Amino acid sequence: MTYQAPPGTYDLLPERAQVFNSIRQSAFELFGRYGYLPIETPVFEQLDVFVRGIGDATDVIGKEMYLVLSQHALAKLAQGGKAPEVSSILALRPEQTAGVARAVVQHQLASPGGAPVKLVYAGPMFRHEHPQKGRYREFRQIGVECLGAAEPSADAEVIIMLMRFFAELGIPRDRMRLLLNSMGDDSCRPAYRQQIQDYILAHAGDLCAECVRRADSNPLRAFDCKNPGCQTIMADAPLIADVLCDECRTHYDAVRAYLDAADIDYEEAPRLVRGLDYYTRTVFEVQVTEGLGAQNAIGGGGRYDRLIEDFGGKPTPGLGFAVGFERIWLVLESLEALKSANFELGAPRVFLATVENAARPLAFELARQLRDAGISAELDHQARSLKSQFKLADRLKAAFVAILGPDELADGKLTLRDMATREESLLALTDIVERLRA
Ligand code: AMP
Repeated sequence: MTYQAPPGTYDLLPERAQVFNSIRQSAFELFGRYGYLPIETPVFEQLDVFVRGIGDATDVIGKEMYLVLSQHALAKLAQGGKAPEVSSILALRPEQTAGVARAVVQHQLASPGGAPVKLVYAGPMFRHEHPQKGRYREFRQIGVECLGAAEPSADAEVIIMLMRFFAELGIPRDRMRLLLNSMGDDSCRPAYRQQIQDYILAHAGDLCAECVRRADSNPLRAFDCKNPGCQTIMADAPLIADVLCDECRTHYDAVRAYLDAADIDYEEAPRLVRGLDYYTRTVFEVQVTEGLGAQNAIGGGGRYDRLIEDFGGKPTPGLGFAVGFERIWLVLESLEALKSANFELGAPRVFLATVENAARPLAFELARQLRDAGISAELDHQARSLKSQFKLADRLKAAFVAILGPDELADGKLTLRDMATREESLLALTDIVERLRA
């Protein structure tokens, strides 16, 4: 039997894992400058956290969840036991906003009137989707949540930070579109939702069965339907921009004014609704124009002013975004930016080569000292000849090779070869750490 990673998942082999670490580090550094602190939440939570947070009429909850069953619960079920109580069912997280909101309420991190709580996370998410380029069942997101700020400047700050992140990663501005919309709030969205529901039912004959079926539960999703017939019909549907209440209109206009002042180009996208139920007012998405095909969204987010209350917390406005690591990877790869990017590839600074076996314990000890001093060092553990040790050093792209030959060692010395210039120098064994630190 041969084993394979499950469909829709893949291994982050060292090269890609290093890019992930490096992108995560850039994100944490950049977002840290805006006041974001790291948070980790469990990879699985009570299913109800996601149902409450994301909404059961969404595809993510309705179709794509992975449930977590313990061996114990499975055995009980197999013996004809009762199905587990809903409250005890666990699920893998399909995104992290709900988990962060749950944690913020559980630990009372946000206090009404207090400074906003700003959190950044990175990790794997799980959705049972049809695997294709840019769409996986396990994928990695890096995201932020800002809790406690209702002002439009907070929306603008988050969007500016997101665009800065993509710029720092090297994605050219002219390859990206920033889409912006307002989804209204409790006072204007219900009437709009009703309008769309009526519109769908009036055009039921021309829309796909799925859009008609969802007319009741989640009519706005019809804007996201990929079916060309549905897209044509929905292009003439009423727009939320025409029915925003005064407060939502004022908020939206202020966000735009901040973005204009910061020279951030955006496109108003009155049909952008985004798939998760919790958004209120501002929503945004960044798409790339080349390199990703249909899965062209590299990040998106919005405001969710009711979410914390939905988890039993005190009224706390919030907003955030998540970016998809795999899609960023694919974009950078298509731009050939990965080749030139300065991603640390783990080449050792020095390879310790021995001419005679008797010197191996000394090489071993020097490697230990170098590593303890913060210098990456490698040596041979397979009793190779000197020639193959050099080949290995070349393959590992070591910057230097330290040759421990019997004549030099007799004088307490070694030969250090600079692999780029091929220059060699003789130095005392006791000087190697200082020399390589230089
Ligand atoms: P969402 O949580 O659906 O708003 O997605 C935020 C970002 O995560 C998207 O813009 C994508 O970059 C990424 N993403 C979402 N779903 C997937 C998936 N199945 N595979 C890879 N990336 C994804």
